[in-house]
Amino acid sequence: MVLKENIHCCLLTCLFVFSHIPFGTEHKIQVLIYSGSNNHNWKETTPELERILKNDPNFLVTITNHPETISADQLAKTDVVVSNWNNFGRPELIWPDSVRQLFINFMKNGGGHITIHAGGSSFNDWVEYHQITAYWGSGTGHGPRHEFTVKSTGEKHSIVQGIEPYETFDELWHNTHFPPESTVLMTAFSSKDKGGSGKDEPVLTVNRFGKGRCVNFMLGHDIRAMKNPGFKVLLSRSVKWAATETITSITNNKGSIAAEQSKQSKHD
Ligand SMILES: [Zn+2]
Repeated sequence: MVLKENIHCCLLTCLFVFSHIPFGTEHKIQVLIYSGSNNHNWKETTPELERILKNDPNFLVTITNHPETISADQLAKTDVVVSNWNNFGRPELIWPDSVRQLFINFMKNGGGHITIHAGGSSFNDWVEYHQITAYWGSGTGHGPRHEFTVKSTGEKHSIVQGIEPYETFDELWHNTHFPPESTVLMTAFSSKDKGGSGKDEPVLTVNRFGKGRCVNFMLGHDIRAMKNPGFKVLLSRSVKWAATETITSITNNKGSIAAEQSKQSKHD
């Protein structure tokens, strides 16, 4: 009888607490874009990434142009970081060991990381970083920007569920180096006529680092490429997945409902 009363009391308390959570205070996904250096035009593309992500009311977006100063407090309130940063050709731009360790711990403990195009093309001396992000290495290259088709590989994954093939005008990399055990979700054919490899090349991959979720999105050379509806949808979904592993009520790149309460299952 005492036990029943306690359970009853507990249920009433729970009901009271949850019924008094005001609307609009649900947890928003805290997104931190790191930028400030890139051999691409980050001064144009970083605001474009921010614009795309701010279209989703579930995201709260902040930007740092000095990732070498990221603090533990900053990462503690962050769900997912988005790299539009690299030190390609600028090896003097290094992160202190203390910041590297914070970044590694953030990912190992379940953080999310998205690499956009040349972001992540960095740190030849940092093995763990390349276990998180794609990077430019031996044999990597690209031809001139041109129009090509982006298509799903058929992998069952909530980021690409219902996504239809689409055309984009962008820079297509070949022989990109990806972290071990990456899963390729989207590819594009790299035509030799356009200076490519003559085979399908990955443009969207996912992988794990500890409990962390990583996405490498190799498109988005400039804002023209980022304004493509396919890019926008895949970016938003990637951020949601990397932050929460769950994507709910999403529309595909053609505007129709592609998935509802879709939970990634194969690559947990
Ligand atoms: Zn590029």
